[in-house]
Amino acid sequence: MERVNAWKTYDENELKQVMALGESYKAYLGAGKTERECVKEAVKLAKKHGFKDMAARIASGKALKAGEKLYYTHMDKCIMLFIVGSEKLEKGLNIIGAHIDSPRLDVKQNPLYETESLVYMDTHYYGGIKSFQWLTLPLAIHGVVVKKDGSVIELNVGEDEKDPVFCISDILPHLGQDQMKKSAAEFIDGEQLDLIIGSCPLKDEDKDAVKANVLALLKERYGFEEEDFLSAELEIVPAGKPRDLGFDRSMVLGYGHDDRICAWAQLEAMFEIDQVPQKTVACILTDKEEIGSVGATGMRARYFENAIAELMELAGEGGDLKLRRALASSSMLSCDVSAGFDPAFAGAFEKKNAAFLGKGVCFNKFTGSRGKSGSNDANAEFMAKCRAIMDDNGVKFQTAELGKVNQGGGGTIAYICALYGMNVIDSGVAVLSMHAPWEIISKADLYESVKAYKAFALNA
Ligand code: MN
Ligand code: MN
Repeated sequence: MERVNAWKTYDENELKQVMALGESYKAYLGAGKTERECVKEAVKLAKKHGFKDMAARIASGKALKAGEKLYYTHMDKCIMLFIVGSEKLEKGLNIIGAHIDSPRLDVKQNPLYETESLVYMDTHYYGGIKSFQWLTLPLAIHGVVVKKDGSVIELNVGEDEKDPVFCISDILPHLGQDQMKKSAAEFIDGEQLDLIIGSCPLKDEDKDAVKANVLALLKERYGFEEEDFLSAELEIVPAGKPRDLGFDRSMVLGYGHDDRICAWAQLEAMFEIDQVPQKTVACILTDKEEIGSVGATGMRARYFENAIAELMELAGEGGDLKLRRALASSSMLSCDVSAGFDPAFAGAFEKKNAAFLGKGVCFNKFTGSRGKSGSNDANAEFMAKCRAIMDDNGVKFQTAELGKVNQGGGGTIAYICALYGMNVIDSGVAVLSMHAPWEIISKADLYESVKAYKAFALNA
């Protein structure tokens, strides 16, 4: 049952491809630090690869033809890509789905305050984070400010080398005696995660002169006022680009591998498909997975089902029963990252059933916690089919659980799509330091996951 280390199997040509994919992925990851930015980049790439806007197609009502490539965005935070197959949609689709939201600090609606001549931006963390990991790092602010007239101001400060960055301070070790006695969970309270954004006062102002100065700068440079924070979505993320990790450049250290690595691998797989598939292929990049797939842009919202209904209408297969049949007959890879075995924390894993960096794309028959609670437990028959597809297409894969029984757990979007009665299994890339500001992946696993998603899209 020992799985092969993918690196050992590559010849010179394949090694070149692995490294080239790594470069393309880093470009995407560096440009997409919020779900909105990930959608924007995905649209750019999709257009470049011949995908057309499905919204325009719905407006025109022109009938669908096999081989057509479409993209469809939802609230600028989700995107779906479709390649129309030769078979009827009613027979089911092959679906690959990932999420493009990542753990971060969101800016509060009333965020600014001044104390002792320092101005802070108050945050509310998003997703599962270890608060202490966010201290003393250079941080960037990304997002949108929407004014009352509906105009949207896009903010991206801290990524350009000439940009300023922002930071959350920590107490020096010399004075950290009280802090060091606390457990890691209490080490820093969520309410303490406030960003330092200024210290220079306006000269002719007495009260909150530093804040007044920052507000004047925001007005002058970006054209918005304090009230406009009420309708803003600003996300605090680690500043800087993803980097190669290791002398051998075999890994990538980056923010947001969970789950943009699977999202990008899915996109790449879609772009590499150059034939008319038998079944229609769908690629979903969704939002809000990290907080339970809730809200209008989370997987629990019915935007994907609605998109399939639109697609079937255009294909002359409209109607509720046909839609239900299409969804129930579909097969899906829920593509999300898996906890990579970390020798430094070996005790949290059960080695026979752990995902290792470099051993290829990882299948999780089930996730969940304790007694598989909250899990999508894929059917053995479906797992067998996936194994066969991987082997037939020379994809290196491994299987894993998320750590030891009773050590914790987690979930993905798999169980939500399974509600339609379709076959779904979790499959993704092993990550070290998952949910930390900087996470680690192996380029070999990225390469194998692109191969896996393409093979699944064409053969499931
Ligand atoms: Mn994830
Ligand atoms: Mn996650």
